[in-house]
Amino acid sequence: MHLFPIPAFNDNYIWILHDGARALVVDPGEASGVAAYVREHQLVLDTILITHHHGDHTGGVAELREATGAQVVGPASEPMPEPLQRVHDGDAIDVLGLRFEVISVPGHTLGHIAYHCPAVDNAPLLFCGDTLFSAGCGRLFEGTPAQMLRSLSRLAALPGNTRVCCTHEYTLANLRFALAVEPGNSDLVRHADHCRQLRAQHQPTLPSSIDLERRINPFLRADVGAVAASARAYNPACGSDVTEVFATLREWKNHF
Ligand code: ZN
Ligand code: FE
Repeated sequence: MHLFPIPAFNDNYIWILHDGARALVVDPGEASGVAAYVREHQLVLDTILITHHHGDHTGGVAELREATGAQVVGPASEPMPEPLQRVHDGDAIDVLGLRFEVISVPGHTLGHIAYHCPAVDNAPLLFCGDTLFSAGCGRLFEGTPAQMLRSLSRLAALPGNTRVCCTHEYTLANLRFALAVEPGNSDLVRHADHCRQLRAQHQPTLPSSIDLERRINPFLRADVGAVAASARAYNPACGSDVTEVFATLREWKNHF
């Protein structure tokens, strides 16, 4: 299977997964880049997966569906471009001969879902929309810190070799914040160097992996002593509870 991030807008990626004949895309906020890729590689667009209702993830769905007849799958409880198959937490869908499991991940939006496939060419794959970013997480537009922390914890519990396909190239900005939180994290320092080189060559920093995110992502590390200490240095009113540390990190990042 081939996996490729089609760039869109300023910093979005529309992930495409294909076997040389049939393709699925995730969160097509616009149609043009997907249509060009499908044409160039002579693919049939089989399925469109949607993680949440924001326009930069859904804006190209109607045009692509009308042009290709692709089936559309999206979250059960968000406004969506109809018609589509709506899926819930724990549902499984078969696409391109692969089985994707639906994981409910409220926080960025309340109905946000992620799609996890346990094995694509021997490594799991995760399409997580605007929930988990490399070295960061989505803003809490609709959910609470406790909801987002629980959602991220579910994703962090996936196998370490899971490839993490996020929808935005926010990695360098996220890493600047992560380094402010945890300047002594040598994995983080090393990965930031690596990503700066990638971006200097206009290469994507994604996909990431669950194992890497557990080591470098401050939003998966609210239970680490050095991270909690930084959160308390930013806001002395922050307690030691993991949810409070997480909420403080999210607030700090909003103003960083
Ligand atoms: Zn969004
Ligand atoms: Fe987005």
